Amino acid sequence: MPSSAPVSSDAVNALNESERKRIEAKSALFAPPTPVTEDGRRELVGLSREELAEVLTEIGEKPFRAKQLWHWIYHQGVTDFSRMSTIARPLQAKLEKHFIVGRPSLTTQQTSKDDTRKFLFRFRDGQEAETVYIPDRREDRGAVCISSQVGCTLSCTFCHTGTQKLVRNLGAAEIVGQFMAARDSYGEWPSPKGDTPRLLSTIVLMGMGEPLYNYENVAKAMKIIMDGEGIALSRRRITLSTSGVVPMMDRCGDELGINLAISLHAVRNDLRDQLVPLNRKYPIEELMAACHRYPAASNSRRITFEYIMIRDVNDSDAEARELVRLIRGLPAKVNLIPFNPWPGSDFRPSTRERLASFAQIVMDAGYAAPIRMPRGKDILAACGQLKTQSERKRQAESRRNEA
Ligand code: SF4
Repeated sequence: MPSSAPVSSDAVNALNESERKRIEAKSALFAPPTPVTEDGRRELVGLSREELAEVLTEIGEKPFRAKQLWHWIYHQGVTDFSRMSTIARPLQAKLEKHFIVGRPSLTTQQTSKDDTRKFLFRFRDGQEAETVYIPDRREDRGAVCISSQVGCTLSCTFCHTGTQKLVRNLGAAEIVGQFMAARDSYGEWPSPKGDTPRLLSTIVLMGMGEPLYNYENVAKAMKIIMDGEGIALSRRRITLSTSGVVPMMDRCGDELGINLAISLHAVRNDLRDQLVPLNRKYPIEELMAACHRYPAASNSRRITFEYIMIRDVNDSDAEARELVRLIRGLPAKVNLIPFNPWPGSDFRPSTRERLASFAQIVMDAGYAAPIRMPRGKDILAACGQLKTQSERKRQAESRRNEA
């Protein structure tokens, strides 16, 4: 528990700075492999504009080519150099010799009865992560839920992914690659410009992993996705969901200015310590203070509080009232998500009556509190389930091969 004595903002900054360094050093231990193919060709997806210019200079080409390539890679979505028609044939061949424009490979793809599409992508080193496209039921648009790590360190007790230990961080190429591959699946190229409607219209960093424990790669990927000459997705259409890595929240707000979602799930420290063990490090008071500091929060850009509704655990009226007290003064919205059972978990979803009563208290206080029914239930909706199933299948196959 934090001390109740007031802490100066200098002290907060100094503390955050040293914690940030510690988190970044730990993150480096789980760095992704260098994106190079077995035959030594360099992956171009995931390079910043400056890095792209550098690798072109290394093969004796002028840096201005980076602009051309950027357009083909991120605006047109082209992966084959020979289709880049504004580039002369000899240069196409040279690029082909040194580079690739890749995508993660697809291990499994399932489309639910409600049109939710779940992808399990495999990366070059054989690691896998899940991506989900959740279409809007009323309009031709939808959210792509992207993973930031393979596995997760945080072990939130209600979360299936939390049962898979952290293997490594995903690289910028792998994070951008999930979005690009999802767009391939719907043929959404070239990137729609300006206000032209998009089918894959928003990104939520809510898949496997804690994005603020892989900040450098996530930030690089989001900058690429937001670049106006490529995919050009507005920062207003990107939401990063965190369990509350307080020291990195400020950095994310200052540098990226994307929307923020908080996996809150409990309003008392004793319970949140159990449900979201990270709370022992950054308790609710510090988390809420970081939300107040978050620069992108304004009335038009509310902070979303995710609240998994677990029967007889966190779903009482008293907890709803405490939630309202906590978010008072913040532009906020509360997503109430009935717990989605997975094998091995003892939790159960809240009853309909509990959900309704809880939501009413939050709404009466002037906050939106939609109840989010799980999508894609028929295709292993709980995050992390597709990956577990694929791993089991592979283990069974290797056991069969050994026998
Ligand atoms: S809820 Fe998010 S942070 Fe917690 S274990 Fe699951 S993936 Fe990790």
